[in-house]
Amino acid sequence: MNVKVCKFGGSSVKDASQIKKVFNIIKSDEKRKVIVVSAPGRDDTHNEKITDHLLNLSTDGNHFCEQKIEVSAKDSFDAIINKFEQLCKDLKVDSKPIIDSLVKDLNNNSLKGEKRNAFFLSRGEHYNAKLITEFMRKNGLNIKLMLPEDFGFILTSEYCDGKVSKKTHKNISEYFNFEKADYYLVPGFYGINEDKEISVMSRGGSDLTGGELAYALDADIYENWTDTNGVYEVDPRVIKGANVIPRLTFKELRLLSSKGFNVFHFNAMLNCKKSKIPINIRNTNNPEHEGTLILNERVPMEDLVGIAKLDNMAAIHLQKDMLADEIGFTAELLKIFSEFGINTYHYPTDRDDISILVDQEDLKGNINNLRREIERRLKTDNIYVTYNLAIITLVGIGLRENAFAIVDAITALKEENMSFEMFDMSPSKISFHIGVSQNISDIALETLYKKMLS
Ligand code: ASP
Repeated sequence: MNVKVCKFGGSSVKDASQIKKVFNIIKSDEKRKVIVVSAPGRDDTHNEKITDHLLNLSTDGNHFCEQKIEVSAKDSFDAIINKFEQLCKDLKVDSKPIIDSLVKDLNNNSLKGEKRNAFFLSRGEHYNAKLITEFMRKNGLNIKLMLPEDFGFILTSEYCDGKVSKKTHKNISEYFNFEKADYYLVPGFYGINEDKEISVMSRGGSDLTGGELAYALDADIYENWTDTNGVYEVDPRVIKGANVIPRLTFKELRLLSSKGFNVFHFNAMLNCKKSKIPINIRNTNNPEHEGTLILNERVPMEDLVGIAKLDNMAAIHLQKDMLADEIGFTAELLKIFSEFGINTYHYPTDRDDISILVDQEDLKGNINNLRREIERRLKTDNIYVTYNLAIITLVGIGLRENAFAIVDAITALKEENMSFEMFDMSPSKISFHIGVSQNISDIALETLYKKMLS
């Protein structure tokens, strides 16, 4: 269908001036017909997102207390009401129906536990969508509010980590009719379960709402509007002046995203990838910038597109004579990690030893028992752990054709006298990983960037 689905994240709808930018973006391209909005994000006066205030209120202050943030349930109630009152005032939208209904919802004590949390969590998107629709309608758009409970955005399983049911796609294609309205606005993040109760997806779930709509409507493109120009070739917080990558494949994006540098909820990509709908990451504060286009396929005009860095890793080294001859050794080892709930990243291996790379946070409070369990079940000769590692990952589909890029990377490090702790090439040959000590990781990243990308 000839439509663009546009999702605007929390920072794009955090206050009236941002919402006016959204309005201009929508008006500037007549294909932008389906709009998904998040709850208001952090702004100059609110350090926390509205969604977090809602959860704090629902849990009677526990949500912030657990994070050692001193904000009571009452403070959160006030912050939520103030935010929506201010938005209505600044956008000249009648506040009474919105605030009266919001207050009623926030005083709802009939729901308990996860049901209550899901309902409260959903209110940020729900009321923001109502308000923004009203603002756009008053400013001349023929726009219809589409609430998930009305058209059937069905979620299965848990109240607070719902997964999208296939029925949702059918409901979307039945309910969205562009002869009845020029534009549709949908609150992201929440849906209803089979019993018509409000459920939410995982945090950041508005990306998922947009992805499902794009898929079900067979959109031309899924635009994901945020507060960054796109995906950078290297973390711009570490390397000033890094450029945005114009075109990336889904696979490359997966490999480049690291903790703290995620621009996108990955599950939102899956259906778009399946039906070959490109995703365009765009900046609401700089709409002239074309952003990053994420595609199924692209012509590899260069070897390397970006370099990611993952800090705070640890390597657990295990030695045992004849380890490689023991069928099932690695399977049992990984099973032990999974029993401890520890995610494993890379496992370089040889005939008598293997290393497992993990996030060192996951070892806190676990390492002694983990070690004991490995020794007991696998009868290892020696186990030792190297902490404070960083994994630098070089990514590009063009690397497949140029194995010498590895040589360039290692030479660049050698020229600066930097040694490395680990080296691993991915099976797809489109990325390779270099483990370095964390205290040189920023300089190593800069060295590789200068030599290979700038
Ligand atoms: N408001 C929700 C959150 O903060 C969902 C979203 O913004 O995508 O996680």
